[in-house]
Amino acid sequence: MIVVIIGVTVLLLTAQLLIEQTVPREVQTHLALLLPTQPTRLNQATMDLLATFQQAVLSSLVLAALASLMAGLLTSLFLTRQILRSLRHLTQSSQRIANGHYNERVVIPDTDELALVATNFNQMAASLEQVEQQRVALIGNVSHELRTPLTGIEGYLEGLMDGLFPKDEETFAQMYQEVRRLKRLVGDLQTLSSIEAGQFSLHTERFDLLPVVRRVVTQLKPQILAQCLEIVTECPEFEVWVLADPDRTAQILMNLIGNAIHYTPENGCITVRIRLNWRMAEIAVQDTGIGIPAEALPYLFERFYRVDRSRARSSGGSGIGLTISRHLAWAMGGELTVTSDGPGQGSTFFLTVPLANP
Ligand code: ADP
Repeated sequence: MIVVIIGVTVLLLTAQLLIEQTVPREVQTHLALLLPTQPTRLNQATMDLLATFQQAVLSSLVLAALASLMAGLLTSLFLTRQILRSLRHLTQSSQRIANGHYNERVVIPDTDELALVATNFNQMAASLEQVEQQRVALIGNVSHELRTPLTGIEGYLEGLMDGLFPKDEETFAQMYQEVRRLKRLVGDLQTLSSIEAGQFSLHTERFDLLPVVRRVVTQLKPQILAQCLEIVTECPEFEVWVLADPDRTAQILMNLIGNAIHYTPENGCITVRIRLNWRMAEIAVQDTGIGIPAEALPYLFERFYRVDRSRARSSGGSGIGLTISRHLAWAMGGELTVTSDGPGQGSTFFLTVPLANP
């Protein structure tokens, strides 16, 4: 509307200026040719002509202005209605999402800008829906995991009360085993929740990686020997200074080598290899164990994921260890990945941490 008003005003002023200054001169020159001997009639004719011309120009300008104003008014009304309708849809949908209807989506409008807003809104709604689904799945998983050891303890207690189980050391040892499993699970869940919420302390410092790796291997030696496994450590001749948290690095290695021990049958071999890889130090934990099927590899680091649920549960695994380890690796600026040639072919986990002086 402002553009129309400015346009019409400028047009009016210009027409007025032309009519007053240029046009009289031109008209008079032409009329002088027609009426060379009658100066009085010449002046009168010029005045009449000019008045008629001025009237015609003004009328057409007023008409054009009215038509443009009308067109402008109708266009802005149409556009405002369209924008308001889309905005009303967005408001209603956001209200429904706020009320917990995460499957709510808006229709994409024709206007480019609003289509972008609506597309982004739908994406946001989809992410919220996914988070909600994960939350529901998490509650389901946690209760399922807690139920297993609790059912075990309940069974033992009922057996003891009914006199089915003898009140001997073995029964109590098995009950203790279930309680320990429960405690470990709750501990893992606590660690996972604090890590995922970013509420954990990380003491990043410059340290030599080799002694940390050797310490973890020494700590796990009794379990390695008990399983009749061989462990080989391949380290460089020089020191490998990295910038990370030594305790968290050891925690990840404990998980990786612990898993390798768990999932490698007797007489197998575990190799821990340290290499420099551009700006990172890479620790590979390779085993000759049961391996991992290709379809399981993408999910291995997800919470509660276990390749063989029954087997892992019987051995006390909760499927949280690798999730925690990967989050820790990320927090230290590193990465945790896995490769395996398939079942029976062993697997290799790669942990990278930043070098102190790349
Ligand atoms: P868990 O406590 O069950 O071992 P993790 O998160 O550490 O939990 O491991 C998740 C799953 O990954 C395991 O249940 C197992 O199926 C698989 N896995 C981990 N490490 C290995 C390995 N070295 N060889 C074969 N499978 C493994």
